[in-house]
Amino acid sequence: MRLKDETVLFSELRHGRRYCLSPYLLETIESADALWRAYGADELVITSGVEIDAWHTRASEHWQGNALDGRIRNLPGVTVHRRADGTYYHKDRDGRLPDLRADMMARWGPDYRVIIEGHHMHWDNKPERIYRPVRR
Ligand SMILES: [Zn+2]
Repeated sequence: MRLKDETVLFSELRHGRRYCLSPYLLETIESADALWRAYGADELVITSGVEIDAWHTRASEHWQGNALDGRIRNLPGVTVHRRADGTYYHKDRDGRLPDLRADMMARWGPDYRVIIEGHHMHWDNKPERIYRPVRR
């Protein structure tokens, strides 16, 4: 497993506060890495955590530390493409992504939401959801 950089775990100061990744998300990393490998990737690369990319549509879950993004282009059969407007889409030749998503949700239970996005898999945990430990 590899983090893009330390901004996955800690944000820059924002309105005088520094945010950090929620332990609920921290404990998904190990099992997500195992799933990525089970689906043929060399490793899981976390591309976004507390830090928010400019294009991000799910900004609040990220800066509050309740979301992670995992790279999908290192999964076999998955290619990522950039449109002229700067947004991304993917092709999933073997249909791996819906199965991977289903496995993530089955492992982590209903407190976690998993969404296939243009160039990554997004998952989050809402603070108001009841916390249950994840299955590793
Ligand atoms: Zn995200």
